[in-house]
Amino acid sequence: MDTSHIRNFCIIAHIDHGKSTLADRLLEYTGTISDREMQDQVLDKMDLERERGITIKAQAVRLNYKGYELNLIDTPGHVDFTYEVSRSLAACEGALLVVDASQGVEAQTLANIYLALEHDLEIIPVINKIDLPSADPERVKEQLIEIGLEVDNVILTSAKEGTGIQDVLDAIVELVPPPENTVNRPLRALVFDSFYDSYQGVVAYVRIVNGEISPGDKIMMMSNQKTYEVDELGIFVPDMKTVNKLRAGDVGYVIAGIKDVKNCRVGDTITLSNKPAESPLPGYKKVKPMVFSGLYPTDSNDYELLKDALEKLQLNDASLSFEPETSEALGFGFRCGFLGLLHMEIIQERLEREYGLNLVVTAPSVNYRINTVDGEKLEIENPAEFPEQQQIESIEEPFVRAEIYLPEEFVGQAMELCQDNRGEFKDMQYVDRDRVSLIYEIPLSELITDFFNQLKSKTRGYATLDYEFKGYKESNLVKLDILINGEVVDALSCIVHRDSAEARGRSLIRKLKKLIPRQMFEVPIQAAIGNKIIARVNIKALRKNVLQKCYGGDVTRKRKLLEKQKEGKKRMKKVGKVEIPQKAFMAVLERN
Ligand code: GDP
Ligand code: MG
Repeated sequence: MDTSHIRNFCIIAHIDHGKSTLADRLLEYTGTISDREMQDQVLDKMDLERERGITIKAQAVRLNYKGYELNLIDTPGHVDFTYEVSRSLAACEGALLVVDASQGVEAQTLANIYLALEHDLEIIPVINKIDLPSADPERVKEQLIEIGLEVDNVILTSAKEGTGIQDVLDAIVELVPPPENTVNRPLRALVFDSFYDSYQGVVAYVRIVNGEISPGDKIMMMSNQKTYEVDELGIFVPDMKTVNKLRAGDVGYVIAGIKDVKNCRVGDTITLSNKPAESPLPGYKKVKPMVFSGLYPTDSNDYELLKDALEKLQLNDASLSFEPETSEALGFGFRCGFLGLLHMEIIQERLEREYGLNLVVTAPSVNYRINTVDGEKLEIENPAEFPEQQQIESIEEPFVRAEIYLPEEFVGQAMELCQDNRGEFKDMQYVDRDRVSLIYEIPLSELITDFFNQLKSKTRGYATLDYEFKGYKESNLVKLDILINGEVVDALSCIVHRDSAEARGRSLIRKLKKLIPRQMFEVPIQAAIGNKIIARVNIKALRKNVLQKCYGGDVTRKRKLLEKQKEGKKRMKKVGKVEIPQKAFMAVLERN
């Protein structure tokens, strides 16, 4: 079996540089989909993806071009999904590197280049959006040279207008090496994505690296030794089309009655159970959630609905975790684990949109490793569950290696921000004349509290950020409690560095004062560390009934006001005697 007609490639890019648009043009040009079927960004399947303009799930599609079989594997374009990106890259021999001609190289471009180089991919630079008046392809070329890439084969495109598309296809054929023909070796298929179908179970996207696979084969997942029988094999054109064999070099899908995505994780190797490969493909990792938050239905009757919805979402998303949690303030809900902030926002949005749930979400937190004075080791994801201060011997927290990429003129502000967020300077490099890459090690907990927004505002939107988990390190942390009307509101507790605890406490209660509406009585808000109150403010009592403002007559106005109040109430949670709006639970996140 010859593989010389196969090319497996992916497209890597910083967000918004035109990856999805270019993919659409490639599909169109090769007639893989007709104009009629053409919908913007075919590869971004979910509505949410289309709206947010991001690609969450890697997708694969086969293009036929001049007798060649080009398999395009789309990669997620966000730092939360770096591991998925790395598995998609591992399924390819080449990568199109798309760079916006007016923006130039960004943090994620670099991160992606390094990933592609790690996998020995042939990189074909594509400078896109050359139709823009601000396009400066020469400058982008210089940047690419500085990074150490060859620019002889750079292709200039406007994915929007459809220029340069044939050049891209020709370059893929000429420059991307065909896969090795290893069909005689034992089967090894790399799972680089999957989704759940309610009839057929898990549909695994695979790249056959060695050997071949046919329907009826008994297969085994190498990470957990679970065995299944292949029901169906196929390719994406872009819809699913069954085939009766997939061989080394091919990209396609496998359906084998797998009922849980957890048993078919991204990065795992599929082999034959009666003739297994000696070792799995390298690089498998079980991804762990890094960011946690509590999700509570505003209406406690929706608890079961929320549980069902989370179970459904989890079917398709092995990296989403959840377990029941109770909060004195918020009642029954779930502690959910996410890969990062974007992943968290996506899940929340889907719960609200697709399942019609109204949620109160607590501020995201990381997981802490606590050594107690009794020699116990605890892992805690919820600040409310922290042991008493005197029980704690030491606390370790997750650190990330953050790479910030920005114009030189903003370096001072960015460094100051990193330092304010307990960042430890590691390295600084010029990527070209006026662009700098800064490397810091920063506690993940600081990164998830407004860091990115502040970075953007301090650099007039020019900085980009990429980060990866580094490890756990000991920090001097304390738990900051918030008392409203004399009661600790567990959902507002947060873990902060001791040195900034007082300032954080003061700013938090000031914010809460603005966010919590006045009640019929005076409400004190206090910040405390252990039993020690460190700051206090009061919300004055409401003097008059709001309705008295619309003296008698105007019924519609009165009704409107009542409706407005009801609307506002939806996102309120009654804690003790006090109504607290959803926004208050997120106040912990914003600084200043
Ligand atoms: P992705 O995040 O890399 O997938 O980027 P998209 O393909 O979603 O493109 C981001 C935005 O840039 C969209 O509004 C596109 O319409 C626009 N865009 C993509 N390619 C071009 C191009 O060649 N020229 C211009 N002017 N805009 C483009
Ligand atoms: Mg996209």
